[in-house]
Amino acid sequence: MQNMNRFFTVALAAGVIACTQTSKEPPAIDVLDMDTSVSPATDFDAYANGGWKKRNPMPDEKSRYGSFDKLADTGEEQVKTLFTEIAGGKHAEGSIGQKIADFYSSGMDTAAIEAAGTSPLQPYWKQVDAITSVADMQQVVIDWHRMQVNPLFVIYADADQKNSSQVIAYLHQGGLGMPDRDYYLNTDERSLGIQEKYRQFIAGLLVHTGSSKEAAAGEAAAIYELEKKMAIASMSLLDQRDPYKTYNKMTIAGLSALSPGYDWAGYFQGIGLNDPGELVVSQPEFFAGVGKLIQTEPLDTWKLYLKYQFTNFMADYLSKDIVGLNFDFYGKTLSGKQVDRPRWKKVQGTAGSALSEAVGQLYVKKYFPPEAKKRMIALVENLRVSLGERISQLEWMGDTTKQKAIEKLNAINVKVGYPDKWRDYSALQVEKGSYVQNVLNSGMFDFTWMMGKVNKPVDKSEWYMPPQMVNAYYNPSTNEIVFPAAILQPPFFYMNAEDAVNYGAIGVVIGHEMTHGFDDQGRQYDKDGNLNDWWTAQDAERFNGRTAALVNQYSQFTVLDTIKADGKLTLGENIADLGGLNIAYQALRHVLKGDEKPIDGFTPEQRFFLAYAHIWAQNIRDEEMLRRTKIDVHSLGRYRVLGPLRNLPEFYTAFNVKEGDAMYLAESDRAVIW
Ligand SMILES: [Zn+2]
Repeated sequence: MQNMNRFFTVALAAGVIACTQTSKEPPAIDVLDMDTSVSPATDFDAYANGGWKKRNPMPDEKSRYGSFDKLADTGEEQVKTLFTEIAGGKHAEGSIGQKIADFYSSGMDTAAIEAAGTSPLQPYWKQVDAITSVADMQQVVIDWHRMQVNPLFVIYADADQKNSSQVIAYLHQGGLGMPDRDYYLNTDERSLGIQEKYRQFIAGLLVHTGSSKEAAAGEAAAIYELEKKMAIASMSLLDQRDPYKTYNKMTIAGLSALSPGYDWAGYFQGIGLNDPGELVVSQPEFFAGVGKLIQTEPLDTWKLYLKYQFTNFMADYLSKDIVGLNFDFYGKTLSGKQVDRPRWKKVQGTAGSALSEAVGQLYVKKYFPPEAKKRMIALVENLRVSLGERISQLEWMGDTTKQKAIEKLNAINVKVGYPDKWRDYSALQVEKGSYVQNVLNSGMFDFTWMMGKVNKPVDKSEWYMPPQMVNAYYNPSTNEIVFPAAILQPPFFYMNAEDAVNYGAIGVVIGHEMTHGFDDQGRQYDKDGNLNDWWTAQDAERFNGRTAALVNQYSQFTVLDTIKADGKLTLGENIADLGGLNIAYQALRHVLKGDEKPIDGFTPEQRFFLAYAHIWAQNIRDEEMLRRTKIDVHSLGRYRVLGPLRNLPEFYTAFNVKEGDAMYLAESDRAVIW
């Protein structure tokens, strides 16, 4: 849960563990993935990806299946090979091999898990039963937060947004069982249906904690109402995109004045931060609200809530019937999945994320060729040059701001493949026995590690994604772009393909991450990663005018019947997609000699755009479209293809798009930002 709301990634991380380094690369542009019966000027997504969508039907266990997800899938198989080798080996006690092997086998031992039933949770439920005062309740919250089980709110450590070389503690809103406040507050028919299913889910779990069926419905309603009150106090996702709104630095005394219902000094002492000095409260209204709720809500309701929350946190690690309940709500109702993921994938994911860099170290040894890193760094530098040229030539930006922008661009740090320094897992306790205990031990290990950083200098060598994850990110406080090893593979990166497709795929991803340093959020941080306005007022105003055009364009996409895309929530990502395309295209122009022959009938320019579209080829279920439209800052795959391309004159030329075509956008409606 750490670093929430901080990183600008290329896709919403799904805890995807990846991947493979194929010795035989697939063709970079495969006509079978296209649907050439559709005109590229009518629907470029259907034209470029129609064949792919037919050839890659939605698996029952998934809610979205795109080329991104497919790469992650192949990768899971590869990590499985790694895990199988480890499981078959002999390992010294305390070694990484022993930890991976024992964590994995504790999760795969379904006989032991069924036999144990809910007994691993009994001690924690007893803790709740023993609560007789608010002070007791706060002690339970402290104990659980130390294991990264997070009722009420979340604490984490990260760089201070205004003093980016120092780590500070952040308090973040939380405590909800559904993904976001809007799930509680929306009153349309679909949302009401989900709310009802959620109450049923809570009741179902309560029965497993010992409530009678008759009592459970009423108890679930009380828990739901409590969560709803917390939802009302929560900040919207849109407001959370404003880094100034979430930057509220205060002392414990200030926090206690804001939220007097809670013993904050006791809390910090309890979690081992006796003197945190100042901290950042991301959503002050939420903490004021929770403080009030603690004073006004009956203790019995809180006890029900805590018991439910703990059980819900652990539900996927328990017996079959509880796992089934959990899937039914989170998998089926919220995302539309038909069956749960195979057990080995889930357990591998859990063990793999508990020991993510240890797995990553083995992963890169086996699957990541050093040549890929070299080629990638060269690509990044070419893109940096192109973005610099584009900034210098911007007609809407004045020289003072331009100079600062170039300074920031030149300061961007680049990480490729894997960290130079690996995390030490020697303090993580992994036992042969209980899966639940291993999960809690891992939470405890992470919490101690994270809190150990508070009030110390930022470790700039740290990575926030492991090498085996198919994704990439820009971190504003270190002003760096990071590309884990697993994304450096087809369909993003082709070791053997020509430049046009590599610039269209990974080139755009690099440009996307760079642009995050200059999107509506990222532009508010300076070259050293501090929240600090380096723009002239006039340039900021012009920037906002240009981004408004993009908000308007995306808000017109119809996701499903009456539901439209959220152009405001996805603005930063859409700016990055558009910037990424512009920058990568310009970089490609520099490397093309002009005498390239078409391949399979497509010019280099066409192959650039086809390679781009291909990374967002995607099938997706209705439920998942709705869920992501509410909470994902990235546009859906289809709009990541259609949205930015309509703004590029080079795309019009490459595919002969003319006025009157569906892909055509009047010049006055197009956006040029970076
Ligand atoms: Zn992004």
